Amino acid sequence: MRYSAARVLWEGLTGHKGWTRAWRDPEPKPQYDIVIIGGGGHGLATAHYLASIYGQHRVAVLEKGWIGGGNVGRNTTIIRSNYLLDGNEPFYEFSLKLWEGLEQDLNYNAMVSQRSIINLIHTDAQRDAFRRRGNAMILHGAGAELLNAEQVRREVPFLNFDNARFPIKGALVQRRGGTVRHDAVAWGYARAANSRGVDIIQNCEVTGFRIENGKVLGVETTRGYIGAGKVGVAVAGNSSRVMAKAGMRLPIESHVLQAFVSEGLKPVIPGVITFGAGHFYVSQSDKGGLVFGGDIDGYNTYAQRGNLPVVEDVCEGGVALMPIIGRARLLRMWGGIMDMSMDGSPYIDKTHIDGLFFNGGWCYGGFKATPASGYAFAHLLATGKPHDTATAYRLDRFRRGGMIDEKGVGAQPNLH
Ligand SMILES: Cc1cc2nc3c(=O)[nH]c(=O)nc-3n(C[C@H](O)[C@H](O)[C@H](O)COP(=O)(O)OP(=O)(O)OC[C@H]3O[C@@H](n4cnc5c(N)ncnc54)[C@H](O)[C@@H]3O)c2cc1C
Repeated sequence: MRYSAARVLWEGLTGHKGWTRAWRDPEPKPQYDIVIIGGGGHGLATAHYLASIYGQHRVAVLEKGWIGGGNVGRNTTIIRSNYLLDGNEPFYEFSLKLWEGLEQDLNYNAMVSQRSIINLIHTDAQRDAFRRRGNAMILHGAGAELLNAEQVRREVPFLNFDNARFPIKGALVQRRGGTVRHDAVAWGYARAANSRGVDIIQNCEVTGFRIENGKVLGVETTRGYIGAGKVGVAVAGNSSRVMAKAGMRLPIESHVLQAFVSEGLKPVIPGVITFGAGHFYVSQSDKGGLVFGGDIDGYNTYAQRGNLPVVEDVCEGGVALMPIIGRARLLRMWGGIMDMSMDGSPYIDKTHIDGLFFNGGWCYGGFKATPASGYAFAHLLATGKPHDTATAYRLDRFRRGGMIDEKGVGAQPNLH
């Protein structure tokens, strides 16, 4: 069924009796050409592009819980392509371009809203660094603007400009950045992949791999053995646990990151704002809630909930930046498990096991990467070669000295 304004009107007039399920609930088949483990944004996007671009239809996505229950439905919805390094910027710009055409591609309203992202500048050194990053963005066609303090004040006058410990001196702005409704991305990709014959199998946890003579033959699951020509793993925060079942130890640590939503307020925040002197970022949802977050909790965990010191720290950052929110009430908060890599950049690569491929290490920036990650992973699975925009995301880069350390903080997963 195609979604359209005419369909909404017709269903509205006829009692909404004609809607069909967005995706089937199939029993697993004994054998697929490609099995994707993980029904998050990246796994579902991979399945969609495998079917729509690479003509692969005997594909299954195995999800241990439900579609949208992982990080794809837990993040703060920010998309952008404001990166500095050559290994990253073309990939994230490719992703932003895919976001721009996503709703037409999927025939699904994912509420892609390019409402801009404003990275605030508080020191002269930071202005230099942001100018350099902005130039890299412009060279890659991503677009960037450097604003002075007066220009920032005109756009977001409610910030604490002069009385703050860290006065605002300007901002780097990407107008094409913004937000996308996170769980709609999972639903949209699931529906589109399903319509091309992909089996999306929920409540199906992968518990092991069947590997013989260095080649993967299939996966053991809570719903029985499923054979596969190739297996792609895209389980984000659970990467280390799942790949350990294939005997691999990854350059990844798992940490919890929290997100917060305030009570609904009148529209005040025009786009995404990030505080350059503390770790705090905020946007406003269409329902009015302020959606914000900050640092990871800083200890290794697989729990999808965080602790109070970070709640206090994030709220302090928010009030320091925007005293007007001091009396807004916090409505809800939650956590997600982050697959933090050693240099802050991801992996999309083959493994030493024939037929086993890995996608992970997204840290807390993997939502914006969803379309490009799915596209590049589908390319790798279908052709055996890395996609042009993802050639740097190799698992062996630390051995070769090919780090992609965007923040320049070294092998400190908790700081990326
Ligand atoms: C609080 C928070 C805020 C964030 N904010 C942003 C942001 O603003 N912008 C941004 O770009 N990124 C953000 N991120 C990061 C982003 O959400 C993640 O990097 C990205 O969603 C990870 O990819 P995914 O969607 O495939 O992961 P997930 O949705 O977690 O998908 C992985 C799936 O694998 C499944 N799985 C695990 N083990 C197994 C198994 N054994 N068998 C079968 N299935 C299994 C899980 O159940 C899960 O559904 C944020 C993350 C969090 C938690």
